[in-house]
Amino acid sequence: MIEIKTENISFDEKVKILDQLKEVCSQCTACKLHEGRNNTVWSDGNPNAKIMLIGEAPGHNEDMRGVPFVGRAGQLLDKFLEEHDISRKYDLYICNTVKCRPPENRVPKPEEKDSCRKYLDTQISLIRPKVILLCGSTAVQSMMETKLPISKIRGQWFDGPFGAKMMPIFHPSYLLRNHSLEEGSPRWLMGKDLEEIKKVINK
Ligand code: SF4
Repeated sequence: MIEIKTENISFDEKVKILDQLKEVCSQCTACKLHEGRNNTVWSDGNPNAKIMLIGEAPGHNEDMRGVPFVGRAGQLLDKFLEEHDISRKYDLYICNTVKCRPPENRVPKPEEKDSCRKYLDTQISLIRPKVILLCGSTAVQSMMETKLPISKIRGQWFDGPFGAKMMPIFHPSYLLRNHSLEEGSPRWLMGKDLEEIKKVINK
């Protein structure tokens, strides 16, 4: 990895460094996941966003397009964001714990997450978001020392790196399997979490 400065840099410098890292990442062979990829999936959204959303890993559509959260789960996430007046393009910077698609969309192995961690850590240190959303249990387990299921900790605030506040939220692929909008249902809770997040970023 290249030595990089992540503090007190201009927006243009930040974008330049992120682009360089994306290029380095696209050639990465640090773990076995590189063997099956079509594209590395680096990020989407605004490098100056107040919210960073960290998901699990690319799926088929993401691997084909090189962009995170563009399959059915991503479309559902977009719908939720739109409904709560959060712009994917301006308010969010989106990435995953690993940048290459695991075979058959399995959960990334600990050694794969460890190998890819340098990219995620550098993204966080460059973006310096106010809020980090841990989308699904893989992201939670990467960023927090907890074995608690996401259903027990979603919607709660935790301290994150560089003074960020972190909140676990449901992964949209879970919401795809849970259609109810009734009070207390996963989709209803997701809406509640997004409203809480908006309050914090608008402070
Ligand atoms: S998942 Fe990360 S560490 Fe593994 S090959 Fe892809 S970019 Fe490199």
